[in-house]
Amino acid sequence: MKLVFLGIGGTLPTRDRNLSSVAVEIGKIRFLLDCGEGTQKQLMKSNFSYMKLDAIFLSHFHGDHILGIPGLLQTLSLNSRQKELYIIGPPGTVKLIQAMEEISFYSRSFPLHVAEVSPGESFTLFGVKVDTLASEHSLPGLIYRLSEPTPKRVLSRDAIREVAKKKGVSPGELYREYMEKLERGEDVDEELLGVSKPGRVLVYTGDTAYFPGLLDFSKGVDVLISEATFPSEMGERAKEWGHMTVAQAAKLGRDAEVRYLFLVHFSPRIKGEEGVEEVRREAKAIFPRAVVPEELAEYVIKKRR
Ligand SMILES: [Zn+2]
Ligand SMILES: [Zn+2]
Repeated sequence: MKLVFLGIGGTLPTRDRNLSSVAVEIGKIRFLLDCGEGTQKQLMKSNFSYMKLDAIFLSHFHGDHILGIPGLLQTLSLNSRQKELYIIGPPGTVKLIQAMEEISFYSRSFPLHVAEVSPGESFTLFGVKVDTLASEHSLPGLIYRLSEPTPKRVLSRDAIREVAKKKGVSPGELYREYMEKLERGEDVDEELLGVSKPGRVLVYTGDTAYFPGLLDFSKGVDVLISEATFPSEMGERAKEWGHMTVAQAAKLGRDAEVRYLFLVHFSPRIKGEEGVEEVRREAKAIFPRAVVPEELAEYVIKKRR
């Protein structure tokens, strides 16, 4: 699983921060979590191909999470994209995307499937299981949990290497040959099979205040991408506006015992690089595995051993 944080700013862009969007690669599947204004330019600067994008998940309809969609759809069409694209969001998403398609003239070159999901609903998209939970924000919104499937059968690299050595063939080629057999559902010698590691699980909070259900929803996941809008001294304001503070988000990651906690969606009140550095220090003091990501840096999440 690969993550690219395209924007870690919340509410407004700043000189050094872009608006909400995370690119996620799970195997061959590519998702965007939210699509704030400027997302397509950030995608162009990353190694993540927007032409290969499979789906966009929207947490809610505040502009800092969705205003990148019309421009991105038009760019995909101008590049003659043929591949279908899914947009998933809370109730109202169909009307929203319809309005976005009408605000300027363009002719879409690819099929677009827009689906509305009610909080609590679960579904599977490209083999990835998606669970949802209602957020506590000033607008209705969804918190997403994406679970990668756990493969039923996997190959043992050691066993393949040994067979390749005996046969005098390249281990890479032999591996591919047997992988194709597994994919076709054919029988493969038991000795060549290894231990199947559990698929990775990611939770994306979007914008939300802290509430206990969020802790249960995130319990033990591999990756928690949590909003951390406000500095920790602004707890009252955060609750009132449906956001979390840095300390609340760090405690959420710690108490949920996640493998990696990424903090995003910083208010412009957290000023410049020094502000972000302060957030990083504070979050790590509460939960050492907290990460304040660099925009456009790539984070690879390996499976648990
Ligand atoms: Zn926001
Ligand atoms: Zn919001």
